[in-house]
Amino acid sequence: MTELVFGILMVLGCAFVVTRAVIAPPSRTRRAYRLWAVPLFTGLGLAFCSVSYDGVRPPGWPALIYVDYVAVVGFWAGVLFIPAHLSAGWLGWPKVLIPQAFRDSPSWLAEGRLARADRRERKRFGLPPTDHLVEILEINYDSGTDEPKRFYAATCDECDWMEEAETIDPVAELRSAAAKHTTNVAQDVVVKHY
Ligand SMILES: [Zn+2]
Repeated sequence: MTELVFGILMVLGCAFVVTRAVIAPPSRTRRAYRLWAVPLFTGLGLAFCSVSYDGVRPPGWPALIYVDYVAVVGFWAGVLFIPAHLSAGWLGWPKVLIPQAFRDSPSWLAEGRLARADRRERKRFGLPPTDHLVEILEINYDSGTDEPKRFYAATCDECDWMEEAETIDPVAELRSAAAKHTTNVAQDVVVKHY
């Protein structure tokens, strides 16, 4: 019985991944992702169907040998295509795995090179390292007492950079901290309530 429940959960999980591979938003590596994800997770799903069925199979009912074959072939086909996804992502090759609309966009390697060159360039002109959009947030939340609590933080839209205010002039403090990260700080303070 546990086997059956486990099998159903696995099949649902696999169906989820396969659906995601099919409906994922257009991107440079979507085709390469589908190429391995669909056969691999279909294979896993079928394998668990077959194992679960075996667990509850009444005597005299046939085993699902052909389902097992398809599952094994699907799984290994998927495994074999994973390097193709990595190669398409990092190197932009083979081209056939990259949709026409994305052929001219840089590979992951080229993206890294461009970002590093951009940083060097900005440094040469005495600019902060990025032009990421940074927002200053005023966060109000219910502390459980009569007095509502409030604090200020600055967050970057495009990377992990963030800063919390510690002084009595939080907005000015965060503006000057953000100016060391980017040339692009939003004008208005964003007020949030929780
Ligand atoms: Zn950033």
